[in-house]
Amino acid sequence: MDIHEYQAKEILSRFGVPVPRGGLAYSPEQAGYRARELGGSAWVVKAQIHSGGRGAAGGVKLCRTDEEVRDFAATLFGRQLVTKQTDANGKGVYRIWVEGASDIAQELYLGFVLDRKSERIMIVASAHGGMEIEDLAVSDPASLRRMVVDPAVGLAEYQARELAFALGLRGGQIAQMVTILRACYRAYRDLDATMVEINPLVITGKGDLVALDAKMSFDTNALFRRPEIAELRDRSQEDPRESAAGDHGLSYVGLDGDIGCIINGAGLAMASMDMIKLAGGEPANFLDIGGGASPERVVRAFRTVLADRNVLVILVNIFAGINRCDWVAEGVVQAYRELGLTLPVVVRLAGTNVEEGRRIVDTSGLPLISADTLADAAAKAVAARNRIAA
Ligand code: ADP
Ligand code: MG
Repeated sequence: MDIHEYQAKEILSRFGVPVPRGGLAYSPEQAGYRARELGGSAWVVKAQIHSGGRGAAGGVKLCRTDEEVRDFAATLFGRQLVTKQTDANGKGVYRIWVEGASDIAQELYLGFVLDRKSERIMIVASAHGGMEIEDLAVSDPASLRRMVVDPAVGLAEYQARELAFALGLRGGQIAQMVTILRACYRAYRDLDATMVEINPLVITGKGDLVALDAKMSFDTNALFRRPEIAELRDRSQEDPRESAAGDHGLSYVGLDGDIGCIINGAGLAMASMDMIKLAGGEPANFLDIGGGASPERVVRAFRTVLADRNVLVILVNIFAGINRCDWVAEGVVQAYRELGLTLPVVVRLAGTNVEEGRRIVDTSGLPLISADTLADAAAKAVAARNRIAA
């Protein structure tokens, strides 16, 4: 789960990371008011969306008067901001963060991620921040410093100092960097984060370190024990199809094709998508209905997949271990009737109670297309799709 920049800054500042003073606004007038309230003579107005790359997309602006703050905010509110990291629809701007402008002498990059190879939290840092890490890795890979943290010891002070030296920091900046690194590490670990990124972390004209941007993501599976994080969820930033499916315990990811997929198991879902592509088709979605799928759950899966207007054919592929083919088959028949389906549905069942499942499909009197293997199912789904699209 992602959160907004202002929320990440608030969290990180509680752990000891210095951030600029700022205020949140839900309207242009409020944005102007925030600027007056903060005082000073220059503010940065920032669209709060779950994406980076806002600066380059026109979502961040330096303003010199509170009228300018208000007017720029007015152009942002309600807009779909398209960045390099969003899809073509972009993300809606409903919240704006106004903060005091910092005087920037140098921009650094700082990221904390889970390194699956070493099974540890890895710190990635560079003395040349500002641009996205992906671009940095291409344009200036030599500047990247990496360091893994031993979970039994935590981030040791000497390690943090070593990194600060490697980034070319001097004097008081070293101690500031140690504080920032340790704070980020603790926030990551204590809150079940999966990512903490400060880009840019800047050195100000006076030589102090300040986090001008902050990004945090959290492990969705741990949210049950982090209610204070769970409540930061902002559904306006999610794909509505995906959030609705998630509410019903289905894991769904919308894609661009027209063959809807209803599958159990993430691995089988991935394999099915590959087979569809191999057969010359394009999947409309990834959907894992999970184990122990009742007929009701299968019907819900149909509703989820059909909410996507591009879907021309549905492929149901179940390899039942915990699941039962007969329940799934009943769900398919029920969905067909209840939802008044007219589009072709290819069904491939294997595993527990498969004979009963096949019998239900074959004797349903519905135009369901049975398939024996995954390859067979994918070929039949693509053939049915091509007949319709032709
Ligand atoms: P994004 O990463 O989404 O583009 P950032 O928060 O990193 O958004 O802002 C983009 C750029 O705007 C930063 O790299 C920095 O140069 C500038 N910036 C952001 N916040 C401030 C601030 N408070 N003071 C001065 N410059 C800022
Ligand atoms: Mg940034």
